[in-house]
Amino acid sequence: MKCTTKKEVITETQYIDAAITLDKLRESTVRTEQSFLRNELFQSNPHGTCCICNNIMPTDFLVAHIKKRSKCDEKEKRDYKNIVSPMCKFGCDELYEKGLIAVHKGSVINLNNEPLYGKVDDYLNKLTGQNCKTYNSHSNKYFEWHYLKHKK
Ligand SMILES: [Zn+2]
Repeated sequence: MKCTTKKEVITETQYIDAAITLDKLRESTVRTEQSFLRNELFQSNPHGTCCICNNIMPTDFLVAHIKKRSKCDEKEKRDYKNIVSPMCKFGCDELYEKGLIAVHKGSVINLNNEPLYGKVDDYLNKLTGQNCKTYNSHSNKYFEWHYLKHKK
């Protein structure tokens, strides 16, 4: 499994040295659209459905995206009716984010081709073939972007 997250590494000596701060200041942009998108997805409904596992759960456990935001152009970012889809924090969002699953032609497919630990394999098998209810002719291009990026 590939991991693309950049990590800063410190030594044990640096870690225990109280003179060295463990926190770093970073400049970041604020995603001003987050609350708007959540409102569009869930309105005032306290529950939503994960588009991968199709479980209904409180919206606090759902995050929203299809195509990686940093890869979207301005027009795509503003395509709010199609660029977001709810995925649960119980595994679906993480597996999608890591490219182990994708939505292709409306169904969840398993892109992983190496054995992982039992629980992860079990979960991947459970998701495979699920019907993605937010897949349609408008959201297709975003799901397809993700699929093509991660397929082997
Ligand atoms: Zn889920």
